[in-house]
Amino acid sequence: MKLADLGEFGFIERIQRAVARTSGNGVRLGIGDDCAVLELPPGQVLLTSTDLLIEEVHFLSDWSDWRALGGKCVSVNVSDVAAMGGSPRHLYLGLAIPAMMAMEDLDAFLEGFLAAASGYGAVLVGGDTCRSPGPLMISVTVEGAAPTDQVVTRSGARPGDAIYVSGTLGDSALALQRLQSGLPMADELAHRHHQPQARVGLGRALAAAQLPSAMIDVSDGVLADLGHILDASAVGARLEQALFPLSKEFSQALVEEPAFFELALSGGEDYELLFTLPADKEQMLADLVAEVPITRIGTVTAAEQGLLLVDEAGKVRPARAKGYNHFRG
Ligand code: ADP
Ligand code: MG
Repeated sequence: MKLADLGEFGFIERIQRAVARTSGNGVRLGIGDDCAVLELPPGQVLLTSTDLLIEEVHFLSDWSDWRALGGKCVSVNVSDVAAMGGSPRHLYLGLAIPAMMAMEDLDAFLEGFLAAASGYGAVLVGGDTCRSPGPLMISVTVEGAAPTDQVVTRSGARPGDAIYVSGTLGDSALALQRLQSGLPMADELAHRHHQPQARVGLGRALAAAQLPSAMIDVSDGVLADLGHILDASAVGARLEQALFPLSKEFSQALVEEPAFFELALSGGEDYELLFTLPADKEQMLADLVAEVPITRIGTVTAAEQGLLLVDEAGKVRPARAKGYNHFRG
């Protein structure tokens, strides 16, 4: 069946039926009226963020299975809430769909979307559905919440703070490189690209303990995203390459091709949390039981120092952030 056979309203009804949970999370009214009606827990602020995913720009339909893509749309969005220390609560899904898209693919996409949403404790409460004359376009908005005094921004880093990152770096970019070269890879590596997980538990735990002075999620590579913290906080940083947390697969790839280290610096879509930590909070961080390993990779310095990268041999060079920029080559 094609979407054209079902029509817009048939499709929306299908979504409405598929959203298993409609209560909880302060949802007074979900899909089906002109607006969703939602309540925020007392003492908490609303965190909102939107991401666009466009076929041919963010994903190729023959690379991602539709279910995984649905989940990824949720994760990349929820990751922004995690990066502020919040918990995701509500999602909105805007879809511009080519009329001839197969309903089975859309159903698989929705299934992945809703499964990921419920995994994060978030409910789909609205969206919009249109026909696209071109590619599939997906717009996801997330609403989260955090206690008023526990929101972590990009702007609080100070010289002397330690720089930490969760998980491992470069895996998603390495997986993408493998895909583009048509090379096989381990499932764990492929999952890092197709099914990234937002670090919600870690972000909440860090924020609740009021540990990070600044935080961001690594979506465009650690250099670019650290660059955003440095700009917002008006500081510099020194990163030690030797400290970078790398997966087994990534380390193996480095043995064959040392230049792949660039992927750990500037590759995108890791969705790890990158945060700065005042020196007097190191012990509290050590005591925090985290869902993922966290690794110190450098130190915040004065703004004049810029962003410096120390390589394995101890050689220091200025690092230029080369994160993905849609409007540059
Ligand atoms: P309107 O014309 O007021 O925009 P719609 O007919 O577009 O209303 O939407 C009706 C209901 O269905 C609304 O609650 C809207 O949020 C929801 N909805 C529409 N498309 C989607 C979608 N892709 N995902 C989730 N909810 C959707
Ligand atoms: Mg509408």
